[in-house]
Amino acid sequence: MRIGIVGGAGRMGQMLIREVLGSKGAILAGATERPGNPALGRDLGTLVGLEPAGVVLTDDAAALFAAADAVIDFTAPAATLAHADLAVAHSTALIVGTTGLSADDHARLAQAATKTPLVVSANFSLGVTLLAGLVRKVAATLGPDWDIEIVEMHHKHKVDAPSGTALALGRAAADGRGVDLATVKDAVRDGHTGARKPGDIGFATLRGGDVVGDHTVMFATEAERLELSHKAGSRAIFARGAVRAALWVAGKPAGLYSMDDVLGL
Ligand code: NAD
Repeated sequence: MRIGIVGGAGRMGQMLIREVLGSKGAILAGATERPGNPALGRDLGTLVGLEPAGVVLTDDAAALFAAADAVIDFTAPAATLAHADLAVAHSTALIVGTTGLSADDHARLAQAATKTPLVVSANFSLGVTLLAGLVRKVAATLGPDWDIEIVEMHHKHKVDAPSGTALALGRAAADGRGVDLATVKDAVRDGHTGARKPGDIGFATLRGGDVVGDHTVMFATEAERLELSHKAGSRAIFARGAVRAALWVAGKPAGLYSMDDVLGL
């Protein structure tokens, strides 16, 4: 399985290069960065602190999609949409970890998935994939008098809020309740907000330090509170899940797949 990485010099990109180099059954097809990135031309092995890999970082995404069976993309929304077009043009599978995608962006990815296989997940860790299933079940079991609040914390460099994972957990809770998250989402509270609206799903965002990703979903009612939490200790867990998804998608027909599909849940 020839796997390519776009955004190879990024925090996740470097983790992904390391993971592909260390994975049985995976060959590193190459990696790209945007034009002007200072790491362009560097050997991918030494870039991530390993032995030379004999492949260098380029800005030629089309050549990477032509050479790879699957490409893993943890970059930024505009870049991911351009990469989805290349995936369709070259019939390459695309694994998307980028967050901060709008509803329109998701619709464009779904369109691309009618032509080539895509695995899209806001969180490639096993723990969070399981957590989302638990949240859906708990939300479906507890009545509407249980308020749902989602708290997340990430490192100070993160540019989107609430995190893609927090939103995915919110969607799981809304699914469990049989409602659309867009109609019950309350992500901004500041000043005189008035009392909490029954049925809302609230979000609180914390940013600081080097926190990889903490998420807690709270179910609160009179005199009782249930909290389900996940804490990520290293970005390696996301890279491991994404490479597992790339290996899994080999030979699959066009379609939009999730980590539930990859893990057979
Ligand atoms: P980062 O800023 O360190 O890395 C992003 C990289 O993409 C940068 O090096 C940037 O130069 C590169 N890039 C941007 N446009 C490009 C283009 N057109 N072609 C090639 N490279 C391009 O950010 P990060 O911390 O690695 O996170 C990247 C994304 O992954 C974010 O959206 C983040 O929220 C998401 N993320 C998802 C998961 C998950 O499990 N789904 C886990 C962690 C991070």
